[in-house]
Amino acid sequence: MNQHAATQHLFAKDILLDNGWQHDKTLIINNGIIADIIDGKTEPAVVASGPVIPGMVNCHSHAFQRGFAGFSEQGSEGNDSFWTWRKIMYKFVDHISPEQAQVIARQLYIEMLKAGYTRVAEFHYLHHDSEGKPYPELSTMAKAVFKAASESGIGITMLPVLYRFSGFGPLAPTHGQRRFINSVEQFNQLVSDCIEHAKTQSNANVGIAPHSLRAVDLESLQGAVAHLKSLDDKAPVHIHIAEQMQEVNDCLVHYQKRPVQWLLDNIDIDSSWCLIHATHIDDSELKGIVETGAIAGICPTTEANLGDGIFPTVEFLEAGGRLAIGSDSHISVNACEELKLLEYAQRLQKQQRAVLATTATPSVGRCLWQHSTKGGAISTASNTGEIAIGRQADLLVLDQDKLRLYAGGDDYRMDSFIFASASNAVRDVMVLGQWVIQQYQHPAQQQSTDEFAQVIKQLSAGS
Ligand SMILES: [Zn+2]
Repeated sequence: MNQHAATQHLFAKDILLDNGWQHDKTLIINNGIIADIIDGKTEPAVVASGPVIPGMVNCHSHAFQRGFAGFSEQGSEGNDSFWTWRKIMYKFVDHISPEQAQVIARQLYIEMLKAGYTRVAEFHYLHHDSEGKPYPELSTMAKAVFKAASESGIGITMLPVLYRFSGFGPLAPTHGQRRFINSVEQFNQLVSDCIEHAKTQSNANVGIAPHSLRAVDLESLQGAVAHLKSLDDKAPVHIHIAEQMQEVNDCLVHYQKRPVQWLLDNIDIDSSWCLIHATHIDDSELKGIVETGAIAGICPTTEANLGDGIFPTVEFLEAGGRLAIGSDSHISVNACEELKLLEYAQRLQKQQRAVLATTATPSVGRCLWQHSTKGGAISTASNTGEIAIGRQADLLVLDQDKLRLYAGGDDYRMDSFIFASASNAVRDVMVLGQWVIQQYQHPAQQQSTDEFAQVIKQLSAGS
């Protein structure tokens, strides 16, 4: 990565601040943090070649799944679903080594940076060796992913996953899940190890992710949350919840409650929680989430790809809810595509247009981008999410040469970027004050791509 002087000045003709587009501003960046935003151009400021906007936070990633994007689009059983997709995924995951996991994650994180994501929440559940035995060092796999983040330059929120069971009951884990399973005690040790490791890495923090209500019971959920909060009471907690109707129905049979309702009734949920795929919720669950301040983590392209269903985004936002976006299975790694699909799913469902705009911000694109960066920052307990004094300098420079081909000006710029521009317009990317992408290029991309292609070949031969 490029090294930089402790203090740098970045001048932007157009810059998206919390209160909208501003012009002719210089950011004073000190050790990666925005120390000041001043009028006019200072000397010797670097001049951004296009509009500057905050970097996006990716609230939900399973990095290893990038390795089999494209391998699961073949109809096989006539009734393909999330559950048949999961079988293919389990088979793929059988033989991934820590070295291969690192190569896959590094490639993915470079792709994320190029697509405008400056931070990732890694919902990390591939813990053990291919026999299902813990590595001598429990955090071997997590460290491979941490290393990939460091090599790429993306900020990371590591969320080790607690996975105990294969279903409500609880049901014993299956053979395909052997690499994911930990006792609560072993899991808490893994979390402590990750927290210690994160202290040694720039731009990294740690939370936890109880996998889902089918994979943990109340006792193990409480044990894991209590351990994390004893170490860091602000640390984020993410959970898959209500992604599939089968999951909702199984939960109703087992607990006589829908998943979100059960969670709200049994656990003290607050704004440090992120409910991933809160897809199937009723009105009372929707209100319940909003009251807690928890973030809804929505992954539109993966949810569409897996046939999950459509999150009630309009109703949730109207009720004051906050959301973040994630690329989850990485069938698409493109922040614009996530936001576009978030809006389009609502348009198709409601037969209306521009449904996620607000009176205060009529530009759907600007509204969604700024809402999602802030929601993503909360979901990762990170000092990111907007270009403001005191925040990390995590920002994107858009390509004015491309954007000039579409509707321009403050009112339309973000809509052109998200809805109209066919090709990626993220030209330069800064994370914590360092340029990690310049003119669409990452310094490690050639090596990363070559090594990644090799790993895909090896893994597809083995599956
Ligand atoms: Zn997921």
